[in-house]
Amino acid sequence: MSTQPTLAFIGAGNMARAIMGGLINNGYPAEKIWATGTNPEKLSDLQQQGLNTTTDNDAAVAAADIVILAVKPQMLKVVAQDMAAAVQKHQPLIVSVAAGILCNSLDSWLGGQLAIVRCMPNTPALVKLGASGLYANAAVTEQQRQQTSEIMQATGIAVWVETEAQLDAVTAVSGSGPAYYFMVMEAMVAAGEKLGLSREVAQQLTIQTAQGAAEMARQSDVGPAELRRRVTSPKGTTEQAIKTFTEQGLPEIIAQGMQACSDRSEALA
Ligand code: NAD
Repeated sequence: MSTQPTLAFIGAGNMARAIMGGLINNGYPAEKIWATGTNPEKLSDLQQQGLNTTTDNDAAVAAADIVILAVKPQMLKVVAQDMAAAVQKHQPLIVSVAAGILCNSLDSWLGGQLAIVRCMPNTPALVKLGASGLYANAAVTEQQRQQTSEIMQATGIAVWVETEAQLDAVTAVSGSGPAYYFMVMEAMVAAGEKLGLSREVAQQLTIQTAQGAAEMARQSDVGPAELRRRVTSPKGTTEQAIKTFTEQGLPEIIAQGMQACSDRSEALA
């Protein structure tokens, strides 16, 4: 990392731990990371790794250049209002991973006039293959953007969007996206079984195929549409499957599902 600001994770649950784990694996100094929680016992493993831990959110805020809010969205208002005085005193960059909480709400709970980045991560962050969408309010500096990108890249890729509303689209693509692929895999395993394979073999082949297709798409200089065309020979077996999927409206079904996801994300704000 170009600069190494001190970070305070408010709430050390699954998402915070995924990010902290990525940072530590990338060589981020543990002593520059604070983690807070309500139960000291649940923080002891982090303390053993050399992180600073506390149940006092204000103490972590006082030490930090960047405060990462990683409590559940429904708890965020109370947690933010409790730490508002400390935040106003120290003016750290605020990064929120809470789904659906708007910058303006967060800013008012924390006392106002703050640099805030909203981040929509996804669960593959746990295996360092996360995809995060980031949005910055007007007070965020270029250096703070850079620092936030570097933090989130510890768990995978991070991309910036121009408007806060686009985070609803990010939620529909990558935030909720892992579940879509799990559902496709679930259906492929069931169909493989129906075609005569054991569940175990169908599952092994399905998972490896998903990973292989994703890796090919990642390494390729052409998009998924062209990759699909290249493996769909005229009159071949794949063509029969693709024809059936298309006739049954699979692309429209996916678009409808993602629209419903985006609408829900918008409604939560
Ligand atoms: P989690 O329940 O695992 O973690 C939340 C943590 O906050 C817990 O460890 C809890 O002890 C702690 N906490 C509660 N009250 C606190 C307080 N007053 N002070 C300090 N800590 C406190 O939840 P999670 O899955 O890690 O989600 C955290 C945030 O990440 C949520 O806002 C969620 O919207 C966002 N997020 C999570 C995912 C995901 O896949 N897990 C994906 C996208 C966004």
